[in-house]
Amino acid sequence: MAKKGFAYLVGAGPGRADLITLRGAELIRSAECIIVDKLANPALLEMARSDAEIINVPKRIGPGSFTQDQINRILVDKALEGKIVVRLKGGDPCMFGRCTEEAMMLNEAGVGFEIVPGITAAIAAAEYAGIMLTDRRYSSQVAFITGREAEGKEDTNLDWNVLAHFPGTLVFYMGIGTLGLIAENLMANGMPAETPVALVANATFPTQRVVRAPLSGIVQTCSRARIEPPALIIVGPAAEGDTELNWFMQQPLFGKSIVATRDPKGNAELARKIVDRGGRPVEFTTVTIKPQTESNEFLKALAAITDHDWVIFTSPNGVAVFFDALGKLGKDARIFAAVKLATLGVKTAKSLERYGIRADFVPTVFTGQELGRQLMAHTNLRDKKILLLRSELASNELPELLLKAGAKVWDVPLYTAVEAEEDGRELSEQIQSGAIDWLTFASPSSVRAFFARIPPETVNASQVRVASIGPVSGAELDKLGVRVDLEAPEHTVDGMLDAIEGIEAR
Ligand code: SAH
Repeated sequence: MAKKGFAYLVGAGPGRADLITLRGAELIRSAECIIVDKLANPALLEMARSDAEIINVPKRIGPGSFTQDQINRILVDKALEGKIVVRLKGGDPCMFGRCTEEAMMLNEAGVGFEIVPGITAAIAAAEYAGIMLTDRRYSSQVAFITGREAEGKEDTNLDWNVLAHFPGTLVFYMGIGTLGLIAENLMANGMPAETPVALVANATFPTQRVVRAPLSGIVQTCSRARIEPPALIIVGPAAEGDTELNWFMQQPLFGKSIVATRDPKGNAELARKIVDRGGRPVEFTTVTIKPQTESNEFLKALAAITDHDWVIFTSPNGVAVFFDALGKLGKDARIFAAVKLATLGVKTAKSLERYGIRADFVPTVFTGQELGRQLMAHTNLRDKKILLLRSELASNELPELLLKAGAKVWDVPLYTAVEAEEDGRELSEQIQSGAIDWLTFASPSSVRAFFARIPPETVNASQVRVASIGPVSGAELDKLGVRVDLEAPEHTVDGMLDAIEGIEAR
């Protein structure tokens, strides 16, 4: 008998990717087929297996859209092919999500299923707008309502009389198109015209918007503000909210578009940090990291590690590239047993810890020059043999300092940064139109690669602000004639974001 599949009806959460449950994320990672709604954040699919079949089933009106029957069919067919299927739905899978039909179809076809709850939009939108749905002072009950049925006068299940007198908070899903009818029906049935209403659009995203007005004026306010779906309508005293509690939108970086200009891995890391602070990351790949660990020099250096007194790593990239090559040669961290290790910065030391190595010297410094100075102060380097394992593009300051201190230095390149293919036209247009708030630069090689695509004049002539992680990237920007608005006092990615926040919070 053919293998029978299994289906998981998974809630993707309200928007922001990391608001999915651990179980949901784990199932996305292992699924063989993922059937995705329009409202589920596409970023979640980055977790999927590279061989997973991904089927988008938007239910909007027009071409390329799917009916519920078609979706049910695909779901059942994929499971019957023997696949582990994840049906990924926005928010909670069953909250206004046609879950009943999908589950019944699976049941009839004899396919097993599991429902994985998600955070529904109403809960997240209220909390991300500082609105407490069950504030005990005035809302001991909450109703979740579909706004779709406001239209169908005959077959509606909505009892407007009950809703108009509901002693708590009403939350309407799918109600932007019928907002006028909702307001009319509530008022016609006795809800006071001054009842507070809040609309929360794009909840939990850096593009979140909140519009407030009394019930009688909400339609006009919303059309003036050009609110577009997805949005929720919150009605009742709770909707008034407390501006002091609007934590999400009050973050200094909320809604700010910040461009990361590093290699793909570095950009992804920076993007996560920007999202954490409420900003909108734009990832622009300037360079990719190319290992140089197949060179004879690298192999010679490996064989000679035990002859050295100190080995110095200056970046997490270097550590990753080194251990990758080491593993391929069938060796491991034990080759460092007899030498001392120093790192540039705590992050590089943390990367070493992943391979079971605790560095002997980790000063809290951010440039090669400072590291050299501190190492000289820490120990006598005269006649000491030092192996530098770092980027081919790193500056000469560190080896020169060490040589001056009497050390014997071997500077072995582990990797280089090569310019990426990315086209700068789209970003250039966004910069010119004022859609970008900040450009961030974390290395001279990304400065060079960035301005090879987008001319310095474009940046200088626009509103966009330019942040540099430290003096080395700053000098490169100066050299190209780029206006630098900020050089981070602490030369780390977090230090740079702190400094941007400082300026935005003014
Ligand atoms: N199952 C989903 C709801 C599906 S109905 C859930 O549990 O959230 C679709 C409606 O959800 C939209 O019309 C809108 O009212 C609401 N919605 C979904 N995501 C939203 C978001 N990020 N911001 C505001 N409203 C959202």
